[in-house]
Amino acid sequence: MKPAAALSLETITDDPLRFDFELPFTLEALDREPLVSISPARLVGEVSRVEGGYALSARLTWSGQLECSRCLAPYDFANDEEFSLLLYPRAPVAEKELSLERDDFDAYFYDDAMLSVSPIAEERIQMAVPMKPLCREECRGLCPQCGSDLNVSECNCVSDSVDPRWRALRLLKKE
Ligand SMILES: [Zn+2]
Ligand SMILES: [Zn+2]
Repeated sequence: MKPAAALSLETITDDPLRFDFELPFTLEALDREPLVSISPARLVGEVSRVEGGYALSARLTWSGQLECSRCLAPYDFANDEEFSLLLYPRAPVAEKELSLERDDFDAYFYDDAMLSVSPIAEERIQMAVPMKPLCREECRGLCPQCGSDLNVSECNCVSDSVDPRWRALRLLKKE
């Protein structure tokens, strides 16, 4: 079975192989908690032959929604990045040597010369999804007592409660 989005590396001669893929990803496959929705990712770029392998340079764009880790509201998120990778056929011994010699490069080892690009894009997406997403830098989050969204309205418990982090700081200062 031919993978849906694949680059036939062995057909590359002197000219770089250009590509433009639209890659669908499902939330289930990505399995990242803060990700609420995701558009198909677009991967545009080219691959050319280099010594011992291939050089890929590409631009990856996608958008989606993330859940803010403070106020739990979904917000729009877009990612647009350019990256390059050196592709080498997987060979356990060579891999060790290459990683020592070419530490500065992003190397990617493939098993099949019919290179499936989805895993490459997926890895970038995984890296781009923040661990603690914030809808905005100054997001005030939810009131720890009544749960209201403090970005939307002040609740009554706010005025007489002190952020526990500040309380800890004040205690430290008193010592
Ligand atoms: Zn927020
Ligand atoms: Zn409250």
